[in-house]
Amino acid sequence: MNRDELELYLNEALQTAQFRDYCPNGLQVEGRPEVARLITGVTASQALLEEAIQWRADAVLVHHGYFWKGEDPRIVGYKGRRLGLLLTHGINLFAYHLPLDAHPELGNNAQLGARLGLRATGRFGPDQLGWLGVLETPMDAGALAERIGAALGRSPLLLGEPGRPVRHVAWCTGAAQGMFEAAVAAGADAYISGEVSEQTTHLARETGVAYIGAGHHATERWGIMALGEHLAQRFGIEHRFVDIVNPV
Ligand SMILES: [Zn+2]
Repeated sequence: MNRDELELYLNEALQTAQFRDYCPNGLQVEGRPEVARLITGVTASQALLEEAIQWRADAVLVHHGYFWKGEDPRIVGYKGRRLGLLLTHGINLFAYHLPLDAHPELGNNAQLGARLGLRATGRFGPDQLGWLGVLETPMDAGALAERIGAALGRSPLLLGEPGRPVRHVAWCTGAAQGMFEAAVAAGADAYISGEVSEQTTHLARETGVAYIGAGHHATERWGIMALGEHLAQRFGIEHRFVDIVNPV
């Protein structure tokens, strides 16, 4: 498939024009014009690029790309090495950040909710990025944390009372611990995100709402994987998801 047609399709499907983001969404580094083999991954790290080179991928599609707002714009050190690998091998880099978190079916939040058996009921928080839902079978926070550990293959960090009954759940993948207060205000019994801050503990204790830190990487694998599978089915592109393990 032609690279520019692929970008147009992705921009349209993910409605990139609707988002104010911290990075450019879409084609970030231009490589060869035809895309037959696609590698997806969470972050465009050097390890992922090396996998792409070995597999002779024409494009890499990630959730965390490059050129973040406020970062040092110089192409030196590890950034130079990453770009050098892409440019030397003619590999395209596509990145979709907030548009991929938010997509109603292929997005990180949609995919995480489906994997955890949560029925979505609404949205909350800044730009309505957070999701609200219910557990069809209410359980306590400890049991929910166990279910998450089994689904994601990583033991989450549970803050708050394990015995707290949970029916209403709020979630937002990645580093969205800053939306905990908004989740509490939205009526959640438990809030699931990826990372934690020191103050997250106190908020959980003092509001009585459980916080489950399920891993930034662990909660953001499914969106990009679903998007890659979608492209493979729709356009006959060869697709492989590569999981570069990350404990955070
Ligand atoms: Zn993220």
